[in-house]
Amino acid sequence: MKPGLILSLIALIFIISCQSKRLTSIEKRLINAGPADSAMYVLSVFNTEDSLVLRKISDPVNQPDNKHLKLLVQRMLITVTHPEVGGVGIAAPQVGINRRIILVQRFDKQDEPFETYFNPVILSPSTETVTRDEGCLSIPGCRGPVERPDVIEIKYTQPEGNEVIETVQGFTARIFQHEIDHLDGVLYTDLLKADSLLRKLE
Ligand code: ZN
Repeated sequence: MKPGLILSLIALIFIISCQSKRLTSIEKRLINAGPADSAMYVLSVFNTEDSLVLRKISDPVNQPDNKHLKLLVQRMLITVTHPEVGGVGIAAPQVGINRRIILVQRFDKQDEPFETYFNPVILSPSTETVTRDEGCLSIPGCRGPVERPDVIEIKYTQPEGNEVIETVQGFTARIFQHEIDHLDGVLYTDLLKADSLLRKLE
């Protein structure tokens, strides 16, 4: 095969792989269905169609500064901080977008702000674990005990495009792990120990 043809093929594969990571028209329509100050519908495991989305492995984000993604993050923040929701974290699949984006309330920072992370990865979890009750916006009305590493080293991309590696611990580390699990279609109920019970809230 001629070198020029091989180069053209490589370029074509690169273009196709980049395009596959772009937001689809369905995703754009969902994000743009409301203004920046409007909450989005939160998917529930108790709904079969929603459950299929929640169980998918999400795609990476390669353009954090994309205007649609900015709107998505604004609307995810409105959703998770809504008085009727009152969450401490949210992942994009929970609002129907299978992209690797999470918002985490940073209880380890002054004023406990919500921050946005693109393509977050856990690099090294500690062997020391803590068991604590968790709930989930997508599993309304339930709580259950989950054992997780207490300290994690994570890598992520900030909305401005900077790649950061940091160590997080305690409750904030738990939120990161819970939200990153969502990006791989994992729910906290998958991690309950065999002898522990999922409890319904009154
Ligand atoms: Zn959740």
